Amino acid sequence: MIRTDLLIIGAGPVGLFTVFEAGLMKMRCHLIDALPQAGGQLKEIYPKKPIYDIPGFPSVLAGDLVDNLMEQAAPFKPGFTLGERAESIEETPEGKFLVRTQQGTLHEAAAVIIAGGLGSFEPRRPQIENLSRLENKGIHYIVKEPEAFLDGPLVISGGGDSALDWAIYFAQHSTHPIHLIHRSESFRAHKDSVSQAQDLAASGRIQLHTHAEVKAVSGETTLEEVSIHSKEGDPIQVKTPYWLPLFGLSPKLGPIADWDLALEKNAIVVDHTLDFQTSRAGIYAVGDVNQYPGKLKLILCGFHEATLAVQSAYKRVFPDKRFNMKYTTVQGVQGFEEKESVVA
Ligand SMILES: Cc1cc2nc3c(=O)[nH]c(=O)nc-3n(C[C@H](O)[C@H](O)[C@H](O)COP(=O)(O)OP(=O)(O)OC[C@H]3O[C@@H](n4cnc5c(N)ncnc54)[C@H](O)[C@@H]3O)c2cc1C
Repeated sequence: MIRTDLLIIGAGPVGLFTVFEAGLMKMRCHLIDALPQAGGQLKEIYPKKPIYDIPGFPSVLAGDLVDNLMEQAAPFKPGFTLGERAESIEETPEGKFLVRTQQGTLHEAAAVIIAGGLGSFEPRRPQIENLSRLENKGIHYIVKEPEAFLDGPLVISGGGDSALDWAIYFAQHSTHPIHLIHRSESFRAHKDSVSQAQDLAASGRIQLHTHAEVKAVSGETTLEEVSIHSKEGDPIQVKTPYWLPLFGLSPKLGPIADWDLALEKNAIVVDHTLDFQTSRAGIYAVGDVNQYPGKLKLILCGFHEATLAVQSAYKRVFPDKRFNMKYTTVQGVQGFEEKESVVA
């Protein structure tokens, strides 16, 4: 059993910043995340993309922002249960929460902050035979380390931002052929990306196949070839060690949807005028996972929400204490001496 003051579900940017804000108030935190690493969408989907709307950072790579958030949280020695999905929640007669993961790890805390983002997200997979056998053996739905795809030809499928951004990136960084496959002629991606990709296609740097789809893949132990079928002409066989089907991720709130919380638009309804508490007292929701009038799914909004939520959670964690807020310029950052949560 892992015991802590504040249990945070989701170690994305908002969950990580929650640790810092809670730490300033002397609350210990433990985070659960279904992914094997902290950082949420920023580490999983777009670690190498620059973000331009974090206050004080004219530009920061998503992966670097996560590293900075980890460093900022470090003095408060948070605990992590990674690679495990929070599955169920129950309240004890003493008003504490017990959260169990899919793998059976049990956590107890006085308050719970859900920072679950889009929920546990799953890539949209094309319907193709042999697909699962070659997943992560040449077929990848997410580009975590672009350097890993620079040593051979690359086939990318999709018409959204992710597919075009990566096609442009690899056209500029790889010396091998880059194929971009899309089912139609119109792209959903940002206009600038579409025209940049079309320019690269006109110069021959990207081989653009529109009205086309990858219909078959083959390879003994790793991907060796894909078969591209277009509306006109015979199928083309392309020898490639890599195919990136980038059709987006489908967000699923997952088990949290069954936690008896008021929901709207696949997100958790919160009291935005006060403290971002859900319909169950003691359970808060911050970041992309919550919903209220005027909600914006932006990192900076999540940081604000987390800051207010911990002020309210404090009263539940320390019902007999009063917290006098001081600026960090006045009180500094006084971390915890020893390791975080109690494991009993
Ligand atoms: C391509 C792209 C570009 C973007 N650019 C910007 C930008 O420029 N500026 C900006 O402000 N925002 C941007 N965003 C949005 C931004 O990424 C989100 O607002 C931000 O990630 C929300 O942070 P979060 O911590 O709330 O959630 P997330 O980052 O989604 O993290 C949530 C975490 O919770 C975990 N989780 C969910 N359910 C469970 C469960 N049951 N058990 C355990 N773990 C669970 C997930 O695994 C995940 O790691 C962009 C998003 C994308 C996809």
